[in-house]
Amino acid sequence: MKYVFSPPKQTTIPVRGSDEVFPVHRIYCVGRNYAAHAIEMGHDPDREPPFFFQKNPGNILLEGEDFPYPGKTSDVHHEIELAVALKSGGSDIPVEAALDCVFGYGVSLDMTRRDLQGQMKKLGRPWEIGKAFENSAPCSALIPAGDTGHPDHGAVWLKINDEVRQEGDLNQMIWKIPEMISYLSELFTLQAGDIILTGTPAGVGPVQRGDRLHGHVEGVGDLKITVV
Ligand code: MN
Repeated sequence: MKYVFSPPKQTTIPVRGSDEVFPVHRIYCVGRNYAAHAIEMGHDPDREPPFFFQKNPGNILLEGEDFPYPGKTSDVHHEIELAVALKSGGSDIPVEAALDCVFGYGVSLDMTRRDLQGQMKKLGRPWEIGKAFENSAPCSALIPAGDTGHPDHGAVWLKINDEVRQEGDLNQMIWKIPEMISYLSELFTLQAGDIILTGTPAGVGPVQRGDRLHGHVEGVGDLKITVV
């Protein structure tokens, strides 16, 4: 088989303590998964079914790279999130079997053009222009579950220029990691290489050029990037 042009480069994420890399297939993001964040966005925190949107594998920004302030916006928000990286998948995965699909975890940011997302919400249109833009998914190196276990509690925070802006605990997730994997697998065929961003705690807000972002998930690690 001969390609009409060279196929795009496979996006990969480093694995901590290894020279192997994780090849990214799809990126699923869950919305409003912490009650306090649902409230700050003007929604009811009751346990409604989870909802999802996607980013593109090429939207990943690796640690050590700068986050370029994107165009067509004046309100880019940070959302600190635990990333779950899958080593296997399938359809209709039972909750009890879901964690068997997990390769490991990372610290990620769901960077959001909030002004564009807000306009799309109001018009009932898709969120891509607010969510799935270049470099919108900064992610740390992954830590294998064999090293860290499967975190279900622990601090999650984001500092900007050493000041705490977001703070929460993984135990505040409305939909837990196995439930999210199981639910997603009823809608999509999950695969090795899929990444799930698990939602953000309260305190989202705008970033400016020059800001130093430092995200942390207890037991998983840190992510540091600078907005340029
Ligand atoms: Mn998010």
